[in-house]
Order: sequence, then structure tokens, then C-alpha cells
Amino acid sequence: MAYDRNNVFARILRGEIPCNKVYEDTHVLAFRDINPQAPTHILVVPKGEYVSLDDFSANASDAEMASLVRALGHVARAEGVVESGYRILANTGAAAHQEVPHFHIHLFGGRDLGGMLPRR
Ligand code: 5GP
Repeated sequence: MAYDRNNVFARILRGEIPCNKVYEDTHVLAFRDINPQAPTHILVVPKGEYVSLDDFSANASDAEMASLVRALGHVARAEGVVESGYRILANTGAAAHQEVPHFHIHLFGGRDLGGMLPRR
């Protein structure tokens, strides 16, 4: 899938849409989800133009990958959810219902998060 430069996270990264920023470095921006599903619900987003984890894992530099993982740990510690526990999630493609076609990792915490997937 080609990268759509008008997706909502691209617009946030360009400063065209505001966000509630919690962390930023050279390669990563993290901000609060607009429709939080837990007391802590943060989106950790690479600044590069990657559609999904598939695209990022194949094409991002080692520095971009390292920054993303470091940012996840930093945000979790800053939000105070390490001791109670937290979850990260990256919806990838149609079966996972990925809505925004710019790679992002959700970080959830602040409550009991239940089982990993709904039982069917
Ligand atoms: P996905 O289903 O792609 O993994 O999740 C996309 C997430 O982006 C959703 O949790 C949704 O609430 C969030 N989101 C969509 N538009 C915006 C926005 O304009 N600002 C912020 N902060 N979050 C957004």
C-alpha cells in the first residue's frame, strides 16, 4: 500500500492538527489518543512515512527502530504504569482493523486490561 500523506497522523506530525503530546525525539512523536480506551492510552508514532509495522520492519533504519522501542519504555515509565502493568498493540492491516494508515503503537494502562483478545 502506498503511503497517504493526508492521513491524520501525517497531519499531526506536520502540525496541521493539534495533539496532546507526551514525548518527542528525532524519530518519534507520542500523543494521547483522542478516544481513549483506558486511563492511559497513548499513540507512539514514528515520524517517518511508514504505513504499518510491515512497512516499518522492512524499511526503517536501525536508529528509527531503536528510538521507537526506547520511546515506548520512556512513555510507560513517565505515565507511571510500569508497576501496575501495561499493554502495547499495533493493529496491522484489515483483519486487525487498522484505521489510520501511518504505523503507530498503542500503549494502554491505568486499569485491568482484561484478556488479550475477545473470545469468539
Ligand atoms: P488503529 O485502529 O489505526 O490502530 O487506531 C487509530 C487510533 O487513532 C484510534 O484509537 C483513534 O481513536 C485514534 N485517532 C484517530 N484520529 C485521531 C486524532 O485526530 N487525534 C488523536 N490523538 N487520535 C486519533
